[in-house]
Amino acid sequence: MIITNSIDDTRKQIAAARRAGKTIGFVPTMGALHEGHFSLIRAARQKCDFVVVSIFVNPTQFGPAEDLDKYPRTFSQDCQGCSLNGADMVFAPDSQVMYPDENLTWVNVENITDRLCGASRPGHFRGVTTVVTKLFNIVQPDIACFGQKDAQQVSVIETMVRQLNMPVTIIRCPIVREPDGLAMSSRNRYLEPAERQQALCLRLALDKAAELFAAGCTEAATLITAMENVIRQYPLARIDYIAIVDDQLLCPIEKIETQTLIALAVFIGKTRLIDNTTLTPPYGPYAHAGETCQWRQLR
Ligand code: AMP
Repeated sequence: MIITNSIDDTRKQIAAARRAGKTIGFVPTMGALHEGHFSLIRAARQKCDFVVVSIFVNPTQFGPAEDLDKYPRTFSQDCQGCSLNGADMVFAPDSQVMYPDENLTWVNVENITDRLCGASRPGHFRGVTTVVTKLFNIVQPDIACFGQKDAQQVSVIETMVRQLNMPVTIIRCPIVREPDGLAMSSRNRYLEPAERQQALCLRLALDKAAELFAAGCTEAATLITAMENVIRQYPLARIDYIAIVDDQLLCPIEKIETQTLIALAVFIGKTRLIDNTTLTPPYGPYAHAGETCQWRQLR
């Protein structure tokens, strides 16, 4: 597996793969890789001949009080995992390579970035769309794989690609979870043992909403209250937001009538975790006799 640090070298390697007739798949990451990331690499591997993974902890998507400095960095293990899961190349630039001077050029998706995580993390999505655009310009992939774990992020990227006519196909990959249901995340490494246990409350709250929905409850306010009640049982948990929104535009809805995203962010101690699920009506005891709930993680 090739490892590059410079933009020139990355472009040369990818140009050689292109000359050999290969299609290019791309997986952008911030490192501290886990099975969630590896599932994206395998998805890219299935669709493309040459798979590039970027590892870059992007400073422009972190707020001033966020965890940029302590974000976990595990580069040699990451490279091993990339290689084992079928990557052909890791592009690992440093900040000087990606932002050699004061950054004056930004890509900004409006409106859908103001809600959910955007409301709690001002400027976050502007940093994400800017770095992803830069990475797309460097790698020029045919496809790029993103995780449904960051549901709002992938909606924002899809909007950006569509509206700016970027020649890349975005693939949405399902959330990969620990055996007990906690969504895998690089930030799970921050959790103390007691926190790790209480972190399950995100998944349990989503389960509760899905269970009520399957039993016929479609009122967003009722589902949100039920989710809050689950999380209140966990003293180390503090809700940042719980949102029930239209799956496309991420607008809050009152009643679930079309495909709907339930997303939440919860602080467990100092660590902010996110999770989500998608619900699709019609449901309920009559629609799916014998089933308690249905999960749709992929469109
Ligand atoms: P990150 O390194 O956190 O920026 O994530 C890089 C990519 O991996 C993003 O597209 C994430 O949505 C995806 N990802 C992170 N965690 C998971 C997970 N548990 N399941 C699926 N994809 C994930």
